[in-house]
Amino acid sequence: MSENKTVYITTAIDYVNSIPHVGHAVEKIQADVLARQYRQKNDVFFLSGVDENSLKNVLAAKKAGMDTADFVAKNSSEFEGLKELLNLSYDKFIHTTSKQHFDGCKKMWQALKPEDLYKKNYKGYYCVGCEEFKTEADLCDGKCPEHDSPLEIVEEENYFFKLSNYQEKLLELIENDEIEIIPSFRRNETLSFIRGGLEDFSVSRSKERAQNWGVPVPGDEDQIMYVWVDALANYITALGYSSDDDEYKKFWLNGDNITHMIGKGIMRFHAVYWIALLLSAGLRLPKKIYVHEYLTIDGKKMSKSIGNVIFPQEIIDRYGRDATRYILLSSLPYNSDGDLTWEKMDAKYTADLCNGIGNLNQRVLSMINRYGIELHTFESDPINTAEYIEKFKFAEGLEQVINSVGQVNRMIDDEKPWEKIKSGENKAAEATLNQAYSELKQIASSLDVFMPETAEKMKIQLETLKPEPLFPRIES
Ligand SMILES: [Zn+2]
Repeated sequence: MSENKTVYITTAIDYVNSIPHVGHAVEKIQADVLARQYRQKNDVFFLSGVDENSLKNVLAAKKAGMDTADFVAKNSSEFEGLKELLNLSYDKFIHTTSKQHFDGCKKMWQALKPEDLYKKNYKGYYCVGCEEFKTEADLCDGKCPEHDSPLEIVEEENYFFKLSNYQEKLLELIENDEIEIIPSFRRNETLSFIRGGLEDFSVSRSKERAQNWGVPVPGDEDQIMYVWVDALANYITALGYSSDDDEYKKFWLNGDNITHMIGKGIMRFHAVYWIALLLSAGLRLPKKIYVHEYLTIDGKKMSKSIGNVIFPQEIIDRYGRDATRYILLSSLPYNSDGDLTWEKMDAKYTADLCNGIGNLNQRVLSMINRYGIELHTFESDPINTAEYIEKFKFAEGLEQVINSVGQVNRMIDDEKPWEKIKSGENKAAEATLNQAYSELKQIASSLDVFMPETAEKMKIQLETLKPEPLFPRIES
């Protein structure tokens, strides 16, 4: 594991056109686990935030009959509230309506090479959901594959960014893994997208279409920055790029490890657009882009129109905060979508947490108590979750913990210390329970980053030897 380095971890910044659901939550929890893991030996800055400048937000405010600024502030606070709700350890939460962000965006715009920007008339299919123009090849049955809403035909004069100038450089950076795109199938997908030829993209929109919401283009007040330049710049503006702050110098300019964590729907913008913009502005590049898959609900994409959206609070109400972290993390595999249903969540909670970790903790500590077992120093091997976490394999890392719980439970079932005590083989019972105790300690410390409150409770109970239920049974 890396040590004494600076590590900068960012999540995607979400649109605030609605309130956060479990899909938003799981990404933030994954990033939190990574941040907690690195913090054990490194200097970490962990950023999350919201994209408040998107046209989507303006349209959603209109629909809700609210003033845009009020609407945005209300929903942003719901996203910011995830910190408390899910016990996330952000160092900063960026609002893109902030002055610091506006100043940074303007600085970045002005840093772009003049030859990379040009104005042209453009007419095309536009998806408001994605906030981008679509080509025929992007569409599924005439619709955006990400959004069900019909596409608009939009014509206007915009600034364009000459992405084609960066095709060779981007290929080289990704092929040489100077920028790692993880998992590797996402890297390959990006490479073939770049090899297919890069088209220039729009980096501004008219003030009118933007409804005068967003960051004005420096020197051309009739244009507002297009969502991607503005949104992507958050990763540097949040650190104080506009005023060259120490945090910017430490974690970006001279940073050792810069990791963006995002969902698959916005991979292209991070792995291609963002890198090209940074190259044009002469800024340093991130090191890793981790692309997670999606959580589906009973096999379907979460959507307001289907009415199958699950909110983090609902899961917390049923299982508690740490268990919610566990359920969401363990439901999303590294390289494929994960599926949630209440039945699956109940089953996971009962098997892995109540009957798994909770029961092991309860039985080991009560037997040590009841039989007056003397504890000696017995060192078990740590559970190797760090390696999984640093490779973004969160569900797979938790699986290691649950496997270990299963092994210790089976060892106790096989050795039956209660029978050994009855037949006077006290030494044998003592050996088994000492081993179980030390394995339990390792389990508790492996949970530090996944379920910090549970880890803390377990450590206290391992000291006092007074077991308390960690995961209350749920009523079905
Ligand atoms: Zn779309």
